[in-house]
Amino acid sequence: MITESLAVLGAAAAASARWNWWRPVVSGGMPTLMYHKIGDAPPGSRLKKLWVAADDFRRQLDYLKEHGYTAVTPSDWRDAEKGLGPLPEKPVLITFDDGYMNNYEIAYPLLREAGMKGCVFLVYETLDKHNAWHDPASEPWLKMLTRAQVREMQDSGVIEFGSHTMRHRNLAAIPLDETRWELAESKKRLEDELGREMVAFAYPYGAGAYEPEVRAAVREAGYRFDFSIRQGISKLPWVPEDEAVRRLLIRGDDTLYDFHLNMTRGKARF
Ligand SMILES: [Zn+2]
Repeated sequence: MITESLAVLGAAAAASARWNWWRPVVSGGMPTLMYHKIGDAPPGSRLKKLWVAADDFRRQLDYLKEHGYTAVTPSDWRDAEKGLGPLPEKPVLITFDDGYMNNYEIAYPLLREAGMKGCVFLVYETLDKHNAWHDPASEPWLKMLTRAQVREMQDSGVIEFGSHTMRHRNLAAIPLDETRWELAESKKRLEDELGREMVAFAYPYGAGAYEPEVRAAVREAGYRFDFSIRQGISKLPWVPEDEAVRRLLIRGDDTLYDFHLNMTRGKARF
C-alpha cells in the first residue's frame, strides 16, 4: 500500500527539481527524526509546519516498520557505544523537541501501538506549565507535559527524556556562564526527578550547536549526545568531535514521499 503510493508520488516528483530524489541513497547511519507538535495546529498559529497531523505521524511510523527500521533511544545508542549490545541493523531515533502535552496525548499512544519508542527533550521550567518562551502573537500558548505524564511515559519504556535547557534560551546569545547553568541545572533537576541519567541534549533553536565553546560546555555538563537542527543523517559510529547529531525535520506539509527522501537521502526538499 505504502510502496504503491510512493511510486505514484515518486513519478510525480521526478518531474520536479524541488525534491531531492536525485541525491545518492544514504545507507547506514542514525536517521534521527525531529518532531515538535503532533496534532492539528490551533487557529492563529504561524508555525503550522511544526505541527504534524496524527494520521501523518501514524503513516510515518508504518513506513518505518514496513521498511525494517527499529526505533532506539539515546540510552540504547549509548549502551551500544559501550559495547553492551549491538544496535539494530536499521536503527531510527524519533525525537520531539520542547515537551508539548500533545506528545503525551497523541504521539505516545501511537508509538506504543506501533511498538516503537522515542525521546522527548524537555524544557525544565515549563513542566506542568505552558510554552512561555513563545510570543503568543505567533503561536498560541500550549500546554506542556505534566510531571505525572512524564513519569508515566518513562515507566512505560516508550519514551526516554533528554534536556532542552531550563528556559529554552538561545545559547549562542547569552553569556557562557548562563549557558553552563542552563545545561547543568536542567540535567541535574531532571535526573533528580526521573532517577535516570540524561544522556541527550537538544539545542533550543539549534543555536550553539556550531559554536565550539557552547558545544564544549555541553560535553562538560556530561551529556553524551547533542542534537542539532542541521539537516542530514549522521554516520555510525558517530564521532562527537566532528559535529552534533544531525536530524531530519519532519514538517506538517510533508508527503510520505518527502518522508521517504528524508530517510533515504537525508533531505526532502529545498
Ligand atoms: Zn525547542
